[in-house]
Amino acid sequence: MPLPSLESFCFAAVGDVHGRMHRMVSFLQAWSKRARHELDFVLQVGDFEPHRDEADLATMAAPARHKHLGDFADYHQKRRHFPWPVHFIGGNHEPHGYLDTEPRGFQLAPNCHYLGRSSAVDLNGLSVVGVSGIHDAASFQKPHPPLSLLGSVSNKAFTFFHEEDIERALAFGRADVLVVHDWPSGIIATQDRGAFAQQRRSPDADAVGNEYARLLTEALQPRLVLCGHLHKGYRGVLAHTSGPPSQVCCLASVEQGAEAFAVFQVSSLGIREITHLGTPEPA
Ligand SMILES: [Zn+2]
Repeated sequence: MPLPSLESFCFAAVGDVHGRMHRMVSFLQAWSKRARHELDFVLQVGDFEPHRDEADLATMAAPARHKHLGDFADYHQKRRHFPWPVHFIGGNHEPHGYLDTEPRGFQLAPNCHYLGRSSAVDLNGLSVVGVSGIHDAASFQKPHPPLSLLGSVSNKAFTFFHEEDIERALAFGRADVLVVHDWPSGIIATQDRGAFAQQRRSPDADAVGNEYARLLTEALQPRLVLCGHLHKGYRGVLAHTSGPPSQVCCLASVEQGAEAFAVFQVSSLGIREITHLGTPEPA
C-alpha cells in the first residue's frame, strides 16, 4: 500500500518541549543547515506548554517546582516566529485554561497550531491524526470536565483523554501518522526489556504505555506513531496482520538534547527517518 504520489519532503518530530521553544527552534535550524534539508512542518507530541502568562500557567497540572512560564510569550507576542508550521497535541502538562477554550484545536500564534483533543489534519497530503492527553482508567468513560470547573477541581482532571476522543480518532478510519503523548503498550522488543528495568519513570516494560494508544495504532495502521511523555528516546515496531508495520518513534524531552528530535523524509516510497543526516551537537 504505497503512499499517494507525494512530492518528497521532510518534517521533524519533537518530544516534550516544556516551554523550551527557543531551544527547539535553534536545534532544528542547526539540523536543517547541516543536513541541507528544508523542513516543511513540525509535529510535537505534547507537553508543549504554551503559556501566554502566569494565568495560563496556573491552569497546568504540575508541582510548583515544575511551573515555569517558558518561551511561548515571545511567539504569542510576535517577538519571535516559528520558521515552520508547528502542530502539537496536548500532553499532561498544559495550560488547560487556554487550550480547552478550543477543544477542536486552533492557531495560537503564527505557525503554531493546537490539534485539539482528537483530530485529523492533512499536511502535504499526509494524513495526521492526533489525540491529546494521557490515560486514566477512572475517568475514561466520563465526559471531559467542563471548563467552568477549572479552579474548583484538580487541574489534573483536564489532562486525560476520554472515550469520546478515542472514538472520534477511530472514526477517521486510517492515518499515515498518529501523534499521541504516551507510548502504545507492548512495543518494547524482548532484547530491550532489561534497559527499562532501570528507568525511574518506566520501571517495568509491561507497564510502559497504554492500551488505547495501541488500539489506535492497530486500527488506523499508521506508517509512523510519534510519542513522548517518558522523556526517553526509543524506536519500536508494531506489526499488523496485513499491511506494513507501524514504526513507533518515542522521543526524549527537548531539555535532554538530540534524542528529543527526529526528522523524516516522505516520498511515494513511504516515511523514512533521516535524523542521522547532519545531527547537530546537543542543543
Ligand atoms: Zn514531559
